[in-house]
Amino acid sequence: MNELSKLCIHTITTKPWSIEEAAQNYAANGVKGITVWRDALDGRNISQTGQMLRDQDLSIVSLCRGGFFPNSDKAKRKLALDDNRKAIVEASELGTKLIVLVCGADPSQSLEDSRKQIQDGIAAIIPEASAAGIKLAIEPLHPIYADSRSAINTLSQANDMTEALNSPWVGVAVDVYHLWWDPNLEKEIARCGKNNALLAFHVCDWKTPTTDILNDRGLMGEGCIPIRKIRSWVEAAGFNGFNEVEIFSTEYWKEDQSEFLKKIIKVYQEHV
Ligand code: ZN
Repeated sequence: MNELSKLCIHTITTKPWSIEEAAQNYAANGVKGITVWRDALDGRNISQTGQMLRDQDLSIVSLCRGGFFPNSDKAKRKLALDDNRKAIVEASELGTKLIVLVCGADPSQSLEDSRKQIQDGIAAIIPEASAAGIKLAIEPLHPIYADSRSAINTLSQANDMTEALNSPWVGVAVDVYHLWWDPNLEKEIARCGKNNALLAFHVCDWKTPTTDILNDRGLMGEGCIPIRKIRSWVEAAGFNGFNEVEIFSTEYWKEDQSEFLKKIIKVYQEHV
């Protein structure tokens, strides 16, 4: 059985709940960490929301998400930088030290161009991130999303980019959903560990068949991802942060969220 001391849940996992309801229910059930999706902050005073989370004894593990740097249109790339700078301000107000980057891609240009724009985009915001004391985690996404969500699709690419940027403010997020299939995963996890660049660990499961490539993620134990094995690699690489449950699921969003939370806690103890 796993302790719950390292269990973090992403607000999007229980999307039907407001952030206030999520905080109350997570805390009441022994969850210790929360990752906040920016849509959960809509219409709220962000500093006060951060205080509300701390009052519930929740660690604010990260803000999701920045990124989406590439665009064939230069004016739109500039807008993306502005939005990332805004995310840094929001993370500061919220009181978290990490922003997860879904890096983006533009299907109207080559992957190489998108990757270059991602690297340039991250480089452009490092000064603000560093001034705010906030790290940026590049999250490689499964190659099925290479058209429009991320041109960074393997941990090797994320590690290459982190090393090229060579900043203590940039690292990677390992999400089992995106990376479980990669034959080089253990080696690449060790590599970012060695660089002190392993900043976050996200868990869920891969269902067969997957009926929707965005919103049909499984509960841990429901699919084919060797979550415990990957967690052991992550911990062997020196990571001792939270295990973050990030499930987008139309099916689970239809359920009673209190029952769903109980399931999450149960399968976390059995499979993470
Ligand atoms: Zn993730």
